[in-house]
Amino acid sequence: MEKISVIVSCYNEEAALPLFYEEMDKVTKIMKEVNFELLFVNDGSKDKTLEVIKDLAKKDKRVKYVSFSRNFGKEAAMYAGLENSSGDYVTLMDADLQDPPSLLPEMFRLIKEEGYDSVGTRRVTRKGEPVIRSFFARMFYKIINKMSKVEMVDGARDYRLMTRQVVDSIVSMREYNRYSKGIFSFVGFKTKWLEFENVERVAGETKWSFWKLFKYAIEGIVAFTTAPLTLAAILGLVMCFVAFLAIIFVFVRTLMFGDPVDGWPSTICIILFVGGVQLLCMGIMGEYLAKNYLESKNRPIYIVRETNIKN
Ligand code: UDP
Ligand code: MG
Repeated sequence: MEKISVIVSCYNEEAALPLFYEEMDKVTKIMKEVNFELLFVNDGSKDKTLEVIKDLAKKDKRVKYVSFSRNFGKEAAMYAGLENSSGDYVTLMDADLQDPPSLLPEMFRLIKEEGYDSVGTRRVTRKGEPVIRSFFARMFYKIINKMSKVEMVDGARDYRLMTRQVVDSIVSMREYNRYSKGIFSFVGFKTKWLEFENVERVAGETKWSFWKLFKYAIEGIVAFTTAPLTLAAILGLVMCFVAFLAIIFVFVRTLMFGDPVDGWPSTICIILFVGGVQLLCMGIMGEYLAKNYLESKNRPIYIVRETNIKN
């Protein structure tokens, strides 16, 4: 029989996990034609998440876990899950039931019967989310899609079902700065999108602050497009051109009207403006340089403290 690996990244999810397990268990009972592996990745939780997972593992042989030595972030957790999964098909899910397990049978059907390699999900509403956050999220997708050749789908979740072939190509991308939405899109393959209404988390609270999301957005841009660098160069060229015109203007004016000492405020404005543009461009370059620096260190994406997976 074929097997589906369900990867669940968990960070402080002791409250949500039992509910998740119950819901997931129901779905596995509906899908009798496949075996399941429930692979929980404990991303350095500070609460009783690991104990809850171990309890589940005791009473259910399908439950596997990988527990990190500290919090490495959801991207690392998803990577660890993909790398350690053994199923013919793999799905990534959140522990808070915001990724409804009930979509799984339909996702599986699309892969088996309609020949898709992966089925992604996107939420068409952002109900229950702060308005400002939704606004910036929309802006982010508009901007990144203008800049990057890799398409990022607005509202796309990490929740998806993939064939082993897709999983292996994702695992082969060992970059340290991971931005999964881009990576999924980068590897390509025949992808079908399922849409659903946003569901609010069942228990516990979100781990993403606005600031964290902002940094994640920058990460996505830096990881999947070098357009900001080109922008910096263009900005530099434009400034040079403006400076050239200004020089001619000042030169001609001095020849025609002499050189009265004035224009101090405008000089200060120009110095400040140019200084700002320079710092901005250096910042952009620095951002890429920093990523390059981290990448070249070749650090492991995650470190495992304990697991019940035997190799
Ligand atoms: N998560 C994780 N590591 C982290 C932060 C979050 O593994 O450092 C997991 C979390 O346990 C959850 C999923 O990622 O299963 C999504 O997190 P959350 O629900 O807080 O994000 P939101 O849905 O609010 O965007
Ligand atoms: Mg959530």
